[in-house]
Amino acid sequence: MGIILKNVHILGTEESERTDVYITGSRISGIGKEPPMFSADEQIDCSHKTVMPGLVNCHTHAYMSLMRNYADDVPFHTWLFDRIVPVEDALTPEDAYWGNLLSIMEMIRTGTTTFTDMQMFPRMAVKACADSGMRAVITRGLQGSNRNDEGAQKRFAQAFDEMAYGESTGANCTFALGPHAIYTCGEDLLRYVSEVAAERDMMVNIHLTETQKEFDDCMAEHGMTPVEYLKSLGLLDRRILLAHCVYLTDGDFDLLAAPNIAVVTNPASNAKLANGIAPVREMLRRGVNVCLGTDSAASNNALNMFAEMRLLSMEQKAGTKDALALTAEETVRIATKSGAEALGLGDLGEVAVGKTADLILIDENYPNLRPLYNRTAALVYSATGMEVSDVLIGGRIVMRDCNFTTIDAEQVYYETEKIAARFR
Ligand SMILES: [Zn+2]
Repeated sequence: MGIILKNVHILGTEESERTDVYITGSRISGIGKEPPMFSADEQIDCSHKTVMPGLVNCHTHAYMSLMRNYADDVPFHTWLFDRIVPVEDALTPEDAYWGNLLSIMEMIRTGTTTFTDMQMFPRMAVKACADSGMRAVITRGLQGSNRNDEGAQKRFAQAFDEMAYGESTGANCTFALGPHAIYTCGEDLLRYVSEVAAERDMMVNIHLTETQKEFDDCMAEHGMTPVEYLKSLGLLDRRILLAHCVYLTDGDFDLLAAPNIAVVTNPASNAKLANGIAPVREMLRRGVNVCLGTDSAASNNALNMFAEMRLLSMEQKAGTKDALALTAEETVRIATKSGAEALGLGDLGEVAVGKTADLILIDENYPNLRPLYNRTAALVYSATGMEVSDVLIGGRIVMRDCNFTTIDAEQVYYETEKIAARFR
């Protein structure tokens, strides 16, 4: 399959520059010059479009779009334990499939081509990715007191079963271990996760130091910060993705500044649940890898990485009273290349020959983007995400002129409203 993006602007190049981008199979095979033996099956006229790498949403719970705008304006612990968990307990795997697909639709529509999921319905996120062509890093949420805990064993078994299933479907999925948090996983279970991650060379995906309560409880129970506690369990020696990291001490920054560790900041979720503003500028200054996530649609309440980029940049500037706290270029990098690298998918996140063609096209003909002095600034500060017109994942067109090519949108709306009717 050969695709030409004709007369396109590549984000980050000279503003007036336009060129042609060639895609062969899953990869970018040429820029500005037709590669040998190229044959085009499809040509997209991009004379008013900009191409950039697909956005990488490094933290979400895709099935939870079913709880969007269901439990708002309540404190964090009430939100999680009194409102969200009871609905989760009533969901069936089929419900979760439709929730996953709804989230994938929203992500594709707003330019996300890869997401990291922590979920509780084995196979359903994988099936939704396989059916839609979406790329994801899937982690089955793990909880329990210790490694012999019956529930924990069951979830581990499901995680590995899901990996095998994922490989059999050919979905664009990789797999990681997902211990939920230090307040839902006991010390022995976390040590076990660390051992399994080392044995199988798997990444670990965990929520960490999201709330003041979590920080204070960890200090009281272990005499250590949450970051120090993970270090003591060996987990910071693994490839690890730490969602949130809002509450950090001076010493924590040094422990986090390592190539195998990435912090996923989720500014909207932290703001909405009144958990505060993560010290992103300071993390970057101290050499910590930072990437971006939306968290779930139940705490955001959207999965729109353009909205997330804008908020991240704005609140870092506002919070530090420094207009240079996070530039538009830095923000785009965090939402693309840094995310891809954090997930071990370094082949994504760039528009360059040889790279995987996870690309999004942005329609420049929107009043909120004009005049086009600086596209990067326009995309971070002025765009809404709805300017995304076309999306390619691994060279496959999953949205063309704002129409989904792999998902029946009407059916997803119908099925998800039917599920929501049960919880009204
Ligand atoms: Zn989360």
